[in-house]
Amino acid sequence: MTDPANSEFDTIIVGAGPAGLCAAMYAGRGMLRALTLESRVPGGELLNTEKIEDYPGFESILGRELAERMASHARKFGAEIRQMTVEGIQRLPDGSFEVRTVEGERFHAPTVILTAGGTPTKLGVPGEVEYAGFGVSYCAVCDGAFFRGQTIAVVGGGDAAVEEADYLTRYAEKVYLIHRRNQLRASRLLQERLFANPKIEVLWNRQVLSIEGREHAGLRDVTGLSLEDTVTGQRSSLPVSGCFVFIGFRPNTGLIQEHFAHDPGGYIVTDDRMMTSIPGLFAAGDLRAQLTRQVTTAVGDATTAAIAVEKFLTERRSKVGV
Ligand SMILES: Cc1cc2nc3c(=O)[nH]c(=O)nc-3n(C[C@H](O)[C@H](O)[C@H](O)COP(=O)(O)OP(=O)(O)OC[C@H]3O[C@@H](n4cnc5c(N)ncnc54)[C@H](O)[C@@H]3O)c2cc1C
Repeated sequence: MTDPANSEFDTIIVGAGPAGLCAAMYAGRGMLRALTLESRVPGGELLNTEKIEDYPGFESILGRELAERMASHARKFGAEIRQMTVEGIQRLPDGSFEVRTVEGERFHAPTVILTAGGTPTKLGVPGEVEYAGFGVSYCAVCDGAFFRGQTIAVVGGGDAAVEEADYLTRYAEKVYLIHRRNQLRASRLLQERLFANPKIEVLWNRQVLSIEGREHAGLRDVTGLSLEDTVTGQRSSLPVSGCFVFIGFRPNTGLIQEHFAHDPGGYIVTDDRMMTSIPGLFAAGDLRAQLTRQVTTAVGDATTAAIAVEKFLTERRSKVGV
């Protein structure tokens, strides 16, 4: 049961990835009474990332180390981070929010900053989990540079797969695009660019059965893929040192218990203050509709959201006198 004296906040931040931790730091600096709820340890996708080489000020930093630094920076400014899983965010008749957790707690605040990120769709084949971050990736901008001069595979047939296969040829010597059908879903323009790129070879009607690799000197590497022809059933091996999977990404928005504006992919649409179509509910990071999803964009969104929350609270107080 939630202690009533410890359940009322100015803002509740859901998720402690880069966006949530940055929002928590700004909320602390703004002297807001803020609570951050995170189902795992703080860090979000940084914890699944070996190295980050595009966060200004750090030419190269381990994802885990950047996560720890962000969490301790937020705590230094008073962030309270509790390990709990949020199961629902409900707007109450007075316009404030009740945030319910799986652990049975209920918290209240006039504002919520949702930074719960998203989940890349997985292939679900042997080797995928073992080699994630060691040759298996879900982010070309993030990991492409690690495959300079190498032969890699991209799995998928939609816009993301085709666009990222083309992008990856900046680094890779050769990119196989593996698609389980005999035609792509990607837009015509992207397809034209793909077919004109001499470094890309499409392997039609193929599905990945497993990702193979090896361990040496405490490190893991991808060495190839085991494939199956979806028409003939014939099996083959494809030697590659990396496998990028782009078969979908689902923003974690299921917690919001009323209608909110979103784009066709389900990403939350916000205004330029990061407020959603529900007054008082802000969104930042990977679950927000925007051009790209990076650590820098997540913390940028979160900075705006936390400062907008302060202004929202000031305006609300002047209206309702609380
Ligand atoms: C393999 C990989 C490599 C990447 N490499 C780079 C890179 O090199 N450079 C770069 O800029 N970006 C990189 N990215 C992208 C970057 O990690 C994301 O853009 C960034 O983490 C987004 O931050 P976020 O806070 O919005 O979401 P996330 O990092 O996804 O954090 C969301 C947090 O919310 C928590 N959460 C979710 N649901 C709940 C719930 N119901 N209750 C409580 N907590 C919840 C999650 O546990 C998670 O901690 C990479 C991504 C991946 C997957």
